[in-house]
Amino acid sequence: MDKEAKPIVAELDRRHDPADCVSDVLLEKCSELGFRTLTIPEKYGGGGVEDTVTVGIVCEELGVGDLSLASIPVNGRKLYHMLNPDLASEEVRDKWMKAYCDDVGFMVAIAMTEPDSGGDNILPYNEPGHGVRTTAVRDGGDYVINGRKQFIAHAGIAKLYTLFARTDPSKGVMDGTSCFLIPETHPGMSFGRVHDKMGFRLLRNQEIVFDNCRVPAEWMLGPENGGIAAMRAGLRSDGILNAARCLGVARRALEEIVDWCKNRVQGGRPVIEHQAIACELADMHVMLQAMRALVWNVAWAVDHEPPDPKAVPGVMAFCTEHAFEIAHRAAELAGGMGVMKDMPFEKLLRDAFCIKHLDGGNYLKRFKVAAGL
Ligand SMILES: Cc1cc2nc3c(=O)[nH]c(=O)nc-3n(C[C@H](O)[C@H](O)[C@H](O)COP(=O)(O)OP(=O)(O)OC[C@H]3O[C@@H](n4cnc5c(N)ncnc54)[C@H](O)[C@@H]3O)c2cc1C
Repeated sequence: MDKEAKPIVAELDRRHDPADCVSDVLLEKCSELGFRTLTIPEKYGGGGVEDTVTVGIVCEELGVGDLSLASIPVNGRKLYHMLNPDLASEEVRDKWMKAYCDDVGFMVAIAMTEPDSGGDNILPYNEPGHGVRTTAVRDGGDYVINGRKQFIAHAGIAKLYTLFARTDPSKGVMDGTSCFLIPETHPGMSFGRVHDKMGFRLLRNQEIVFDNCRVPAEWMLGPENGGIAAMRAGLRSDGILNAARCLGVARRALEEIVDWCKNRVQGGRPVIEHQAIACELADMHVMLQAMRALVWNVAWAVDHEPPDPKAVPGVMAFCTEHAFEIAHRAAELAGGMGVMKDMPFEKLLRDAFCIKHLDGGNYLKRFKVAAGL
């Protein structure tokens, strides 16, 4: 991260066109080092690492370079979990996991959110007429898909799309939605604008448009109308890795500000020797320790304890809020330099704000914790 990523991420982040901010070079380097395929079983060509704590540690380290780099191992783990034997045949698992391992630029996109349905899919709000509006209508041996997705990570560069579409509009989103695996450049699937985000810019988010997109029925993943339940089963634990990558942002902000406070002299001494600033840094250090302890604790529990629906949403909400808090305090302590692009603080603050809005945002995550209570 120090040698390859930090020197170029600031420049990529500043590019005006959001379509130019993703680095193929960093993706390929991460692939060559085995991060992208870390969690895919060895028989397909992956690293075979299932232990969530280990994957979390990798995400923290990549997150120190940039939040988007930590998407790379998360992406492989999502593919592996979505193609679990309950949902995908051995043939399908073989086909896509081998293709994923053989191509250093292969990423997967998960297309759920739409202009009129975001949190309704995540909570979910399970009333007919709400949630996913994109439709997939059976026509002989095919489904014909129409609709629009937005905010989709890796859209436009991914080589495989997991699409959620309504196969029974008379039911709620949980019971009327199916999941399809669609390869890139399939007729009827095209891409809209690349979203111009305030931060997290090295992650590309783009719209996807389906216009009479005809796909064979065999491309359905899991049972008809069982798409959301299938996705939840498949991805149940991956949110912990989003919490782990927050550690990277928070650690980078803390390391950079401690260094800066040791070197910046005001009032006749390095500002770290002023007690008000020293206490702020101490609080930030303890916050980071608390985040890390929680991530490792819940990451371990994901592999070794019965599922707890409160655990992962809770740790995600805690870590995203505290990463933002640490990045915010770091930018404050740096004075005027905190808002200047010469220093990393303003970027870390923008990135940390964006990650609060993944997977339904932090209100919805707290609703899940409360529902579990
Ligand atoms: C960086 C980034 C990457 C993303 N990547 C993907 C991706 O790869 N694939 C994908 O499908 N989506 C992706 N998303 C979308 C993300 O999952 C949604 O933004 C999120 O689910 C919230 O939906 P929304 O933005 O439509 O907000 P809305 O659902 O419109 O919510 C607006 C506000 O209302 C609150 N709210 C919503 N419902 C309720 C309720 N029932 N009760 C009380 N309050 C409520 C919310 O907390 C929020 O404050 C991404 C988003 C971001 C920012």
